Amino acid sequence: MQFLLNHFNYTTCFYLIISLIYHINATLSNKSSQQTDQDCATEKINKYSKEANTKYIKYLNLIQDARRNYKHCNTNRCNCHAPVMAHDLKIFKEKGISEKQVQAVKSKGTKYQIINHKLYRDSNCMFPSRCAGIEHFLLEILPQLPDMEFVVNTRDWPQIPKKYGIFGPVFSFSKTDEYNDIMYPAWAFWEGGPAISLYPRGIGRWDTHRQKLGKLGNSTKWEDKIPKVFFRGSRTCSERDPLILLSRENPDLVDAQYTKNQAWKSEVDTLHAPPAEEVSFEKHCNYKYLFNFRGVAASFRFKHILLCKSLVFHVGNEWQEFFYPALKPWIHYIPVDAKATKEQLQELIEFAFNYDDVAKEIAENGYSMIWNNLKMKDVGCYWKKLLKKYAGLLNYKPSRDKTLVEITN
Ligand code: UDP
Repeated sequence: MQFLLNHFNYTTCFYLIISLIYHINATLSNKSSQQTDQDCATEKINKYSKEANTKYIKYLNLIQDARRNYKHCNTNRCNCHAPVMAHDLKIFKEKGISEKQVQAVKSKGTKYQIINHKLYRDSNCMFPSRCAGIEHFLLEILPQLPDMEFVVNTRDWPQIPKKYGIFGPVFSFSKTDEYNDIMYPAWAFWEGGPAISLYPRGIGRWDTHRQKLGKLGNSTKWEDKIPKVFFRGSRTCSERDPLILLSRENPDLVDAQYTKNQAWKSEVDTLHAPPAEEVSFEKHCNYKYLFNFRGVAASFRFKHILLCKSLVFHVGNEWQEFFYPALKPWIHYIPVDAKATKEQLQELIEFAFNYDDVAKEIAENGYSMIWNNLKMKDVGCYWKKLLKKYAGLLNYKPSRDKTLVEITN
């Protein structure tokens, strides 16, 4: 009798544990009972097997934690991005911004003034199309802005390191935590983006891409996307190499190839392979899994590929643009360590292949965040709020600098 009771307990316990594991997995992935043919084709490991559970539990835990801690932001009036401007301006809050400080950083960028709702700028801009991309927004919001002057850096690289050099307010499109620059929405939302053969005059207006890609994101069903990782881009940063090498070893899993850029001289610049043809953003949307990497600073493709409603793997978390902090790892994209090896990339990719409905949900979240919070209106709204707050910190009244020229539509 004692034996029977013990045996019953062990057996019950065993089945209870198995059913608990099954239940946790089923709840996390919200799996419907019907598996699609596509799931079967890509599932290399049975996701309820012991192997899958131990191998991927760390990712499932990270997803669970991220979901638990996630707070929805208020999508009205670019509010989701408000913490970024508060963070960037905080360092000027106590003492305000003096005329001397603005003078000191003048050489770090292009000087602008707004006086009596008119816009003035240094007669020379280092990158005229980038200035034009910036001025599009400034001219739009001019009637609502108070008098002020500010310095805009149109280079890729931020200008005010925290640990050395001069200190003062400089607006830059991208930075890491090592810099005190104030982030502004990049020129490329309107014009001045990188030119490639497909987009010879720059990647083009964000509102046009947003409409086209948003439509595609909704019309291409998740199940119909090619179940492969896809990347096309030039070798602006070697952090891209492990994915390219993984693709060469495992072309069924990953199609990632280097394209030429203006600095291309030989196949050394495409990691000893012929340069690949460039591929439009629209065609990226045919693939289920897409990669984003930093370039010189942040790369402009992040927002475009999120609109495909494909699962985005975002490599590295150092280089930011103003809208990045609203996007949360494991909620809107899969974060990837910038130093991940080929093997680590492969494991993470296979996790996504095995947990198809988790991947689909993250892809949908990423799409929604960009679609709802990165309209052209939100970009203009960010510029407006940022400049109003900045102007409020100036502890002097700027007077018209006669060396500047007026900029009009
Ligand atoms: N790009 C593209 N198709 C390609 C290669 C690049 O649409 O086949 C886009 C890419 O998304 C980015 C820009 O062109 O917005 C420049 O890409 P690249 O990789 O050369 O440099 P990055 O700016 O990312 O450092």
